Amino acid sequence: MQAYTLIVIGSGAAGMMAAITAARNGKKVLLLEKLSKIGAKLKATGGGRCNLTNTLDNETFMSHFGRDGKFMMPALDAFDHKALMAFFKEIGVESHAPDGFRVFPMTHSSSTIIDAMQQEMEGLGVEVRCSQKVIALSCNNTQISAVETMTDTYLTDHVVVATGGKGYPVLGAEGDGYALAESLGHKVTEVFPAMMPLKCKEKWVANCTADTIAKVTMTVDMKKYKKLKAQGDLIFTKSGIRGPVVLDFSREITPLLSQYEEVPVLMNLTKGMNEEQIRAHFKKVLEKDPHQNVLALVKTLLPESVSLELCRSAEANPTLGLHKLPGVVRDRLIKLLVWTPLTINGHDGFKMAMITRGGVSLKEIDPYTMQSKKCQGLYFCGEVMNLDGPCGGYNLQWSFASGHIAGKLG
Ligand SMILES: Cc1cc2nc3c(=O)[nH]c(=O)nc-3n(C[C@H](O)[C@H](O)[C@H](O)COP(=O)(O)OP(=O)(O)OC[C@H]3O[C@@H](n4cnc5c(N)ncnc54)[C@H](O)[C@@H]3O)c2cc1C
Repeated sequence: MQAYTLIVIGSGAAGMMAAITAARNGKKVLLLEKLSKIGAKLKATGGGRCNLTNTLDNETFMSHFGRDGKFMMPALDAFDHKALMAFFKEIGVESHAPDGFRVFPMTHSSSTIIDAMQQEMEGLGVEVRCSQKVIALSCNNTQISAVETMTDTYLTDHVVVATGGKGYPVLGAEGDGYALAESLGHKVTEVFPAMMPLKCKEKWVANCTADTIAKVTMTVDMKKYKKLKAQGDLIFTKSGIRGPVVLDFSREITPLLSQYEEVPVLMNLTKGMNEEQIRAHFKKVLEKDPHQNVLALVKTLLPESVSLELCRSAEANPTLGLHKLPGVVRDRLIKLLVWTPLTINGHDGFKMAMITRGGVSLKEIDPYTMQSKKCQGLYFCGEVMNLDGPCGGYNLQWSFASGHIAGKLG
């Protein structure tokens, strides 16, 4: 049996960062990865471009993770987006924020990130073993003592669990870390797939798949959950909706779908316009050209396919002039332009989930070190923990920052 100061389980953003930090502090590190290659999910991030962080200050950054976001404070204080960018610069990867918010490597290729981290690990003497699936952890009294894979057992006093969540299982993370954590007495919350397209009951969406609708606001149309909101671009699919706003909103919707069969939502497809603004807008257009029909008017706000469907939903004849419509129909159409209802009734599960909502409970982890409060020498980092953020570099920044602090073995 071989002995290491630290064994890191998982070669994602969190695991590689933990391995590098520990090795820089002179520790003998073994990194175990169950796939045949390292960094499979990292490679797929940002559509292969790797949106590795964003430029928000820590306070605002944490607020996007909800109630438990504050847990991240010590990790972010120690390793914020500036520190992350400096780290990558140091290992030869320049990064930038072309839109002033999302940070990418200058090459806009995730391979640059993986190659640089791999080289850094090699230079520091981190031993990387792929095709090594960890199946058990051993604890001696309350001190971690060994890691068992399908073929070997390794002795160690320190283990970092960086096994990711459950989403996109083809990229390695299948929830193994939850069972490992539970085997040592940790609680794992219920987990839900998140950051994914959603399905809806309404069939009309299938006629609107060609266009992207910018700056859509979505909200849940249930009294108890009215506060849940998201904003961003939306694309209709054959069976539902996708796009940035949907990716962000899905993390609120999937837990609700597990309780209710259907979740009614409302979409403002008109860049936040209210009834008054829409009426004023139509008035202005008609002043210039009084012959515009209803379809032409709605088309000044939305793509033709969506305009037609909304006219249909409002039972408004699209070929008539607006003032030829009965008042009640005109009002219905304007209301639909402010809030278009949709009934979410499904999704494709973890297979298409870019992140996992839920994970190893934060209550039993020290936020200053990421060390387990149950088992000495056991650490967690990255998505395996019960923290998830929206699109925009949030989840990778958290993985890198928590990996950094876990790798300090404090
Ligand atoms: C398609 C896609 C695009 C994304 N784009 C972005 C983006 O641009 N920006 C952003 O911030 N976030 C993005 N995310 C989310 C982000 O990738 C993850 O939150 C983050 O990579 C999680 O890092 P991690 O190190 O915790 O886990 P992972 O990257 O999932 O790494 C876990 C590793 O552990 C290994 N492993 C699991 N179980 C075992 C075991 N038993 N034994 C050994 N090894 C094991 C896995 O094979 C895997 O390599 C994206 C996600 C997806 C799926």
